[in-house]
Amino acid sequence: MALVGSSELLKKAQQGRYAIGAFNAENMEMVQAIIDAADEMKSPVIIQTTPSTVAYAGPDMYQKMVSVKAEEVSVPVVMHLDHGNSFELCRRSVESGYTSIMIDGSGLSYNENVELSRRTADMARAEGVDTEAELGTVGGKEDSHEVSDKDALYTNPAQAVDFIARTGIQSLAVAIGTAHGFYKGEPRLDFDRLSEIRNVVSIPLVLHGASGVPDEMIKMSVELGICKVNFATELRAAYTKGVRSILKEDGIFDPKKYSAAGREAVRQLVKEKILLLGSEGSAL
Ligand SMILES: [Zn+2]
Repeated sequence: MALVGSSELLKKAQQGRYAIGAFNAENMEMVQAIIDAADEMKSPVIIQTTPSTVAYAGPDMYQKMVSVKAEEVSVPVVMHLDHGNSFELCRRSVESGYTSIMIDGSGLSYNENVELSRRTADMARAEGVDTEAELGTVGGKEDSHEVSDKDALYTNPAQAVDFIARTGIQSLAVAIGTAHGFYKGEPRLDFDRLSEIRNVVSIPLVLHGASGVPDEMIKMSVELGICKVNFATELRAAYTKGVRSILKEDGIFDPKKYSAAGREAVRQLVKEKILLLGSEGSAL
């Protein structure tokens, strides 16, 4: 079917107490793998691209690949811009046909974040596109900007209420202790803080930096009200591992051969994540 927006799906997930996986795709094979896995599991799915991915091939290329593939299946597919780092990139993505965007002003002062997120959400809403924004800072490395663990500020529940009222966003990425990239030690998530935020905020909440977080912690986050979970690093690693394993064999030179091995590895991983988030069957 045609691409859909994110807010209706996320609200449904919130009511049903499950989460929808948001998977970062870097190439055609990852797009195919993610959507095929979702179709097989009868789950809605969000495909997202970061600014560095968009810089690699342009938003139109990704938007077209995803919409063509989405037409082949009966589950809802969302095309989302992950960590939009400027109003301009968000607008460019909306023009390109993305059905959902994130504006990430979390590195700015609070008031600047409010202003940028509000302006971006207004622009997107006028085109019928949903906006996610972030309050507090997820640690680790996202694209090129690095956030040291010490500086990572967790989301303040009262500030979240104010932020949503002033920006008019449809979903909020919360900082509760997750980090982008792989973890050095065991991740520690602030579940009390998540519950507090959930108690005072009504819009869907998003968890970033889920790669490498133990399954039990992901499950607990979903129980406590997270309804979109982002996976990027683990998918890249699975794709590369799949490619690498087949390249060990002699005589492999056809890109279709080794790319298909990467694709299959991603498809299996996405199916596991959909089961973990409990969204299987929810697209029926
Ligand atoms: Zn993120």
